Amino acid sequence: MAIERSLILLKPDCLKGGHAGEAVGRFEKAGFALRGAKMIQLTDEILNEHYAHLTDRPFFPEITGFMKSTPVVALILEGENAVANIRDLLGPTDSTQAPTGTIRGDMGTTSMENICHASDSVENAQIEIARFFDESEVF
Ligand code: ADP
Repeated sequence: MAIERSLILLKPDCLKGGHAGEAVGRFEKAGFALRGAKMIQLTDEILNEHYAHLTDRPFFPEITGFMKSTPVVALILEGENAVANIRDLLGPTDSTQAPTGTIRGDMGTTSMENICHASDSVENAQIEIARFFDESEVF
């Protein structure tokens, strides 16, 4: 089992819905440890980088509008196979398709409003951690 890190964003629907504690609690109960945490107001600049794979999609302006609608909470979580295991805790992108018992299935509402972002590969986790955190903010 590899010890990995993943970059999580608690999205605006997570904060507006009062789900932050529940989401973080699920990560901790699953054995993942916090290595960094901060609240950030996202900008178009950082979202264009973070969602570069989606910029040509018709719904991209809606995503950036949503992600800027409140500050988000960025977390670094560490633990065994963190990238895949945290994606499993979230469930699929579309909350309406996410099984009961997953974070998106229990708390998400749509494809867009799906509570959390989590890195989808170890390589992207490293890039995303560097995108959202200075070295001095990683513990
Ligand atoms: P994931 O967040 O599960 O890795 P993607 O990288 O494909 O999924 O998409 C990034 C984010 O863009 C999603 O979490 C969601 O908020 C939004 N999104 C993705 N697909 C759609 C869609 N079809 N309609 C609206 N928003 C979407």
